[in-house]
This record gives sequence, C-alpha cells and structure tokens, in this order.
Amino acid sequence: MLIGALEAGGTKMVCAIGDEKGNIIDRVQIPTESPDITMPLLIEFYKDKGIDALGIGCFGPIDPDKKSKTYGYITSTPKLAWRNYNIVKTFYDALNVPIGFGTDVNAAALGEYTWGALFDCQVGLYITIGTGIGVGVCIDGKPLHGLMHPEAGHIILSQHANDDYEGICPYHFSCFEGLASGPAIEGRYGKKAYELNNESEVWELEAYYIAQAIANYILCYSPVRIVLGGGVMHQEILFPLIRAKVKEYLNGYINSKFILDDIDSYIVPPALGDDAGIKGALRLGHLALI
Ligand code: ADP
Ligand code: ZN
Repeated sequence: MLIGALEAGGTKMVCAIGDEKGNIIDRVQIPTESPDITMPLLIEFYKDKGIDALGIGCFGPIDPDKKSKTYGYITSTPKLAWRNYNIVKTFYDALNVPIGFGTDVNAAALGEYTWGALFDCQVGLYITIGTGIGVGVCIDGKPLHGLMHPEAGHIILSQHANDDYEGICPYHFSCFEGLASGPAIEGRYGKKAYELNNESEVWELEAYYIAQAIANYILCYSPVRIVLGGGVMHQEILFPLIRAKVKEYLNGYINSKFILDDIDSYIVPPALGDDAGIKGALRLGHLALI
C-alpha cells in the first residue's frame, strides 16, 4: 500500500510517499508560495504515484470538522494567500483518494504516538517551539479535535517581572508564542536565536515561559508524556532548565512518579527527530483509508 504524506508549513512543503508501517520511500521539499503557484507542484508530485490515500498535516488554524461547511479549509492564518483556502478539496479533485487532514502539530503527535516517544501513551503532547509555537494532542491514538483543535501555543502566560518585551504575536502580543517563539527571542535581543548560545539568561527566561506553559498543559490535559521539538529546542540546555522549572511550578501537587522521580523520561525530545510531522501525516493518510 502506498500513502502520500504532506507536511504543509508556512515556509516549505514536505511531500513524501510511504507505507502504512512508516517507511518513507520518496520525499521532496517545495517552497510555500501562494496556492496557485504551490498547489500544482504538489499535485504533480503525488499524481501517477499510485497512492491509495493522502494525509495532510497543515499549518493552521484549519477546519478539521467533517460536518462543517468549511471542512478542509485553512482558516484564519496570517499567511493571507492561504486564508480561507480549501486545500482538501483541491487535492481530492486532483487525486481522488481518501484524505486525512489535521494540524501539523497534531500530525507530529500522532507520528510520535504511532512510531516514536509517545508510543501507546493514552494522552500524549507534542509541542513545537519554532517560528511559531504549536501543541498537538493525541488521545488514544487520535488527534484531539473539538470546537476546532487545540491552539495552545497562544495561551496567556504571566510575564517575567524583568521582561518588558511587548511580544510578537499579531493577535495577542504577549501570549506564549508572542514571548517565546524563535522570532520572539530574536525580537527581544536583536540577534538570531542560535547566536545567543552562551547567553545563559536568554535560556533561563525561555525556560521560564516554556515550563509555565507545560505546567498548565499538565494540569489541563494530564499527558502521560510530553515531546518538545522545533528549532529553538536545538538549544539542549533548555531541557534540564525546563524540567526543573516544571517541578517548581507544580510544587508536588501532581503526585505522579513520572514527574517527581523520572521527569527526564517525561519531557523528552522527539524520537522521530525532524520526521515526526511527515510520518504523522503518513499515519493520517492511513487512518483515512481504514
Ligand atoms: P518552523 O517552525 O518554521 O517549522 P523550526 O522548527 O526549525 O522551523 O524553527 C525555526 C526557529 O528556530 C527560528 O526562529 C530559529 O531562529 C530557531 N532556531 C533554529 N536553530 C536554533 C538553535 N540552534 N537555537 C535556538 N534557536 C534556533
Ligand atoms: Zn497569540
């Protein structure tokens, strides 16, 4: 069985062909421009490859509700050319195969659940800290959808007393993404995040926000394990800082041995590395078929 997978991002599209076991046999990257330029190139890649289904993990917000009139649309994205664009219908009309559709981070959570660090976790979270901040939630092997899907990168945090940065989120300014995404770090310090390697106070503050968000997610979602990925998490110093601060914030209230005794196995990097999203999209395609 051949399945197409698409990790649709704001800067690039990762297109792959794989199978239901998570093997990827072909992959290309295409820059994200406007739909009229990019969609024909994507369709060209999948056409004539004999795929039985397509899975799409997409930047959002999106409408994943099959009963909704706008199912399959990218909705209120700041990427204006893609706003209110029906990406699922365009693919369906061209390829005529079942399509699984979800957010990029829900797909990454599903990929890690199926083949990675969230394997068999009843509730698993995948958090990406990159150009944006997104949170995928996988419950019993299914991406969490409701009103729409979690947008937990935009939760409101309490700002550090010594941090007067106004925040970079176009909707909320100083939400989590507004304070702690890669562009927020760069906006606050006027340098690329990877140039700040040796500035310990940068990563202390970053961990302060990420840990605060994670403590809230633990209280709300009760995850069995949390995967932290994305470009900013390449700063490995963040992991121990975040783990220690999460314990501080929770202050023993969540009486779980996973947090109290073994937090190193509780907050972890992605086992699938940079393939979590594309493999999750593969799984979304497989789920659409079965
Ligand atoms: P995207 O979110 O666009 O898919 P990434 O997850 O790679 O892409 O995140 C990109 C962000 O990560 C950029 O803001 C970049 O500055 C930041 N970043 C990349 N590498 C590092 C690093 N080594 N340390 C800190 N930040 C980094
Ligand atoms: Zn926001």
